Amino acid sequence: MMQKMVYCEDEEFEKPSWIIDMGTFNTMPQPWCETDADEYWHLTGAYSPSFVEFRQVHESNEVWFLTISYYHGFAMGVSRPMDWTFVGDKIHYNDLPRYFKIGCVHEYEGLDPVKCRELGIFHGGRCYHVSKCKKCGHVHSVDSSD
Ligand SMILES: [Zn+2]
Repeated sequence: MMQKMVYCEDEEFEKPSWIIDMGTFNTMPQPWCETDADEYWHLTGAYSPSFVEFRQVHESNEVWFLTISYYHGFAMGVSRPMDWTFVGDKIHYNDLPRYFKIGCVHEYEGLDPVKCRELGIFHGGRCYHVSKCKKCGHVHSVDSSD
C-alpha cells in the first residue's frame, strides 16, 4: 500500500510510554543504545513508521546526522556516514552508517481476556495475544490467526 508522508507539528506527536524523554534536536530520545545493521533491518524491514524525524545529535564529541523512525513500541535511528570523497565522478564513503534502537527494552507479560477486560484493553479472542510491558506499560497485540 502506498502511504503519503505529510509534515506535522511537534504537538501532533504524542510521546509514547516507552520513551522517557524526547530530548531535543541535538540530543537523543531516552533511552537509547547503539545496535547493528542486522537488528535495524530485522525490526524495520516489515513495517512502515508512524513518524519520522531528522536530528543533528551531538554525542560523545561527535555529530550524528540522524533519521529517527517511530514504530509501534520502538524507534530506530540511522546516522548518515559523514566521511566521504569523490573517487572519479562517484561518491565514496569511508565510514559506515550507525544504527540506534530507541525506547524501553520491553519486558512483556501476557494478559488473558479477563485481565484485558479489567484494564479496558481490547482482546480479540482465542487467537489474539495481548501482552503488556512491566516496565513502561506498552501494550502489544498479535492476532496469530493472520
Ligand atoms: Zn517497555
